[in-house]
Amino acid sequence: MTEVLSNYIGRFAPSPSGPLHAGSLVAALASYLDARAHRGTWLLRIEDIDEMRTVPGAVAVIMQALAAFGMQHDGAVLVQSQRKDLYQAACDRLTAHVYPCGCTRKEIADSRLGIAADGAAIYPGTCRHGIAAGKTARTLRLRVPDAGQADETITFDDRWLGPLTQHLATEVGDFVLKRADGYWAYQLAVVVDDADQGVTHIVRGTDLLESTGRQIYLQRLLGLPTPSYMHVPVVLNESGEKLSKQTGAQALDLAHPLDELLRAARFLGLPIADAQSLADFWRLAIAAWAQRFGAQ
Ligand code: GLU
Repeated sequence: MTEVLSNYIGRFAPSPSGPLHAGSLVAALASYLDARAHRGTWLLRIEDIDEMRTVPGAVAVIMQALAAFGMQHDGAVLVQSQRKDLYQAACDRLTAHVYPCGCTRKEIADSRLGIAADGAAIYPGTCRHGIAAGKTARTLRLRVPDAGQADETITFDDRWLGPLTQHLATEVGDFVLKRADGYWAYQLAVVVDDADQGVTHIVRGTDLLESTGRQIYLQRLLGLPTPSYMHVPVVLNESGEKLSKQTGAQALDLAHPLDELLRAARFLGLPIADAQSLADFWRLAIAAWAQRFGAQ
């Protein structure tokens, strides 16, 4: 195991909906390099909270891929589907901010205030003051502050993108904590787990940037610390879509791990021309990352 010399705790948190692809390797590589450049801890968390998307066997395949790349995680692997009691406990602490919502997707689509940057409908708050007669609760929603209130604006300094601002009322809206299918929302699980694992630095793709405001707001409501954030570019396919199983992403070629790593490093703008072996690659890549992003 790599020697841990600092208080830095980072993590890679894949959803086991399929094997790693070129896009998830970039996220894994960036978080791994940042942790190692800081001589910190790199945790692995399996985000299988959306059990409808979990593919049997995917966890083993992801772990084999990480091993083939020489990316060793520290400590025990945390699995979200085994932690539902903690998400329930966090939700119980948010009672003053949570309300049941009886709106269907169709009703929300018809009444939405707009479309959030991640493509979701901005909920107009229909059920804020109670569910209309004849309707039943489908989801649990978290009420965000109204426009103009001080805590409605979330600002943070992204280590890749610089200072960023999100307005919860106008860009996000009241968001779901517990889904209509009974599963806890990613936003709640990730906040609970990052705090529980003492994560100090989150390095992930810009596809999750729109979630960060919600996560910081939840951290504040729950009295949890806010980690440092870095959102790295995501790999797109020829049609400009984020790589995923749905958009036909190829699994990585584990017979040639060095080629895959060199490609991912190049995508992140790390000049590592002459690595001949995995050991060379890691030595050069960690040094290049440390030089570019500093290792405080
Ligand atoms: N599980 C998420 C994904 O695979 C990542 C969550 C995160 O890094 O916060 O997209």
